[in-house]
Amino acid sequence: MRTPLCIANWKMHGTLAEARPLATGVRDGLRRVKDIEVVLCPPFTALAAVAEVLAGSPLKLGAQNCHAEASGAHTGEIAPPMLSELGCGYVIVGHSERRREMGETDELINRKVHSVLAHGMIAVLCVGETAEERRQGLTFTTVEGQLRAGLADVAPEGIAGTVLAYEPVWAIGTGVNATPSQAAEVHGYLRGLLSELTSKDTAATIRILYGGSVKAENADALAAEAEIDGALVGGASLNAQGFVNLVKKTARAGVAVRGT
Ligand code: PEP
Repeated sequence: MRTPLCIANWKMHGTLAEARPLATGVRDGLRRVKDIEVVLCPPFTALAAVAEVLAGSPLKLGAQNCHAEASGAHTGEIAPPMLSELGCGYVIVGHSERRREMGETDELINRKVHSVLAHGMIAVLCVGETAEERRQGLTFTTVEGQLRAGLADVAPEGIAGTVLAYEPVWAIGTGVNATPSQAAEVHGYLRGLLSELTSKDTAATIRILYGGSVKAENADALAAEAEIDGALVGGASLNAQGFVNLVKKTARAGVAVRGT
């Protein structure tokens, strides 16, 4: 069965002076937590420091983005081998903030997915509709297009090594989360597409996270849906105690729904 997963996306928050105590608080608060996997994605500049804090703990390290190429003349960019060298096991790809602010296209996102997988890390592919697309009844069309394009030419074994994150754009950083049933409906649709791209058995092993204004107060209701395998968390991951509570609730709800 799928182990629940919570990923903290700190975005552009966390000087070293802030990142060390935040990672330490999360690590210590989750010392006795079982039945869940937890990944912290600090800014690039804090990766090495957070790796030191997490060393010897079950918490894992991830990055928020990467370049599609392994090296080259790309001023200011970070290549996948630089991330794996620091101990990153996960890379978020295709976050809506990068699609919107940096003009990242599905084609570029697909190249990043290939590159992350080729360098032995897990790609966390984000998909999600805008408020306008939902109003127009285009939610499934949008996420399907993003999923198919993001995973284009990725072999089934590669797809099995990805995590999907359904992140409705209208829910990110707004305080308005998708309801558990709204999210579960889209997750079920995405899993059907994954079955087509791989097989029913493989699709059943791929984790689909929900992201968009998840906090300790709503994490358990979301994770109580069998199709929701955990959360990608922005704002609420910046407070150690709040994030620890969110993870604990997700783990408990996961055990209740999966019976593990
Ligand atoms: C995100 O940026 O991936 C996210 C889900 O943000 P927030 O939790 O703040 O809505």
